[in-house]
Amino acid sequence: MFKKVGRIAGSVTSYAGAVKQARGDAPTVTAWCSWCGAHCLHTLVTERIIGRSDYVCDNCGGPTVKCRYCDNMARGAGAFNGDGDQAPDYSSSDEPTKSKVANYFKERWTNELCSEHDGTVPDFSKATLRIADLSEFADLMKPRQKNYSGAAKKATFVAGKTLAVTLGGGPFAIAAAAGSGLGGRAGYGIANNYLKDIPDYNFVKVQEGLSASRHSVIVINGLLSKKNPQTVREEEWFDLTHDWVSGLRGTYDDDDIWHLNWDAKSLANFGSWAGASTGAGILAASSGLSNLVLSVSGNPWYSAMLKAQKTGAILAEALSRTEGTTFTLMGHSLGARVIFFALMALSTKDERYVRDVVLMGGAVGRDKVKSWEKAGAAVTGTLYNCYSANDDTLRHLYQMANAWLSKPAGLGAAMPPAFNIDCTDFISGHTVWKANLPQLLERISGLGKA
Ligand SMILES: [Zn+2]
Ligand SMILES: [Zn+2]
Repeated sequence: MFKKVGRIAGSVTSYAGAVKQARGDAPTVTAWCSWCGAHCLHTLVTERIIGRSDYVCDNCGGPTVKCRYCDNMARGAGAFNGDGDQAPDYSSSDEPTKSKVANYFKERWTNELCSEHDGTVPDFSKATLRIADLSEFADLMKPRQKNYSGAAKKATFVAGKTLAVTLGGGPFAIAAAAGSGLGGRAGYGIANNYLKDIPDYNFVKVQEGLSASRHSVIVINGLLSKKNPQTVREEEWFDLTHDWVSGLRGTYDDDDIWHLNWDAKSLANFGSWAGASTGAGILAASSGLSNLVLSVSGNPWYSAMLKAQKTGAILAEALSRTEGTTFTLMGHSLGARVIFFALMALSTKDERYVRDVVLMGGAVGRDKVKSWEKAGAAVTGTLYNCYSANDDTLRHLYQMANAWLSKPAGLGAAMPPAFNIDCTDFISGHTVWKANLPQLLERISGLGKA
């Protein structure tokens, strides 16, 4: 066993040596690199008449070969010849620690397809582009090539010096791009990966601002009162956001209002449980679900919570590609969870995109000091946490899904720097927040922080 590994290690060493010798007057090609995502020179290492010739990327030192279907360079087999820290291996949250066996084969596998053709990167040339407004995000993420890999790949795009953070903990941990990686090549690959789980992710403008303000509001739902929609049709968007738009009238008239559409199916499922308006109804619904819920993975609540986090990572990616606009983010229920995870990712950047945040009935933990400090650091204005002690949905469903280990922010005061607003006197349950939006905004402005 050791001998075998030694022999392969030996061949890697001689490969590196060959690259050194080959450099200088060796032929080169200019092409996109599936390791680092750069458009750069690749130097010929081994020329082959039958089969594809071996190259090395001049930017990252990764071994490359031509894609079977285009002129992009696919990942070749062998070791990196660069300075060693150019392209660290990074995989998605679905497989936070890859086995040594998987790594072994990955390093020795010559790929047939470039990262555009295997679906890991939508379009190399767009990976670092900015967007003028949120409506351009869908175009940015549109694949340039047909995906030939059959099954959707789960491995996230490897970019040079990938900067990533793990957000959340335990079974709810996800990875997000961080710092300059967010809004760059690393974030592009991660967002692309998460979008496969949330195909209806979409920003829809539901109000055109009266003035050309450089400030926009994004509203995010956490449950839908709709029977089993697979997707939400375009003509339904205005109905589904009417409560937001009318609730915000008089407060945000100058600004564009965007609705972030995400995973309508999960939100409708959740909506049907939360629609059980009496405590007894919720208890009945939740006890029916308890076996599923307690098994954690594979239950609808778990998957909705995780998808909210992924949606948050994609939201952070979208916001960090905008320029010159500031945002107010408002989220209800799981929508507040989306925002919270977006803020944690955004806090790793130097730039600030978010002015104010309003979380209503938030399905996100309220006790972790470090997480709230992180989320608060991404906000230049105020992070409002609006809660009601009457929220039986959060009390039962949320806490059970978290095995009673996490207390939701929508049920009580969260850690600083959250500015907590107790709405117990006028919020009777989880589903009535948006209907009481004018009253909530009045209370916020009355407190002198808006
Ligand atoms: Zn490269
Ligand atoms: Zn290709």
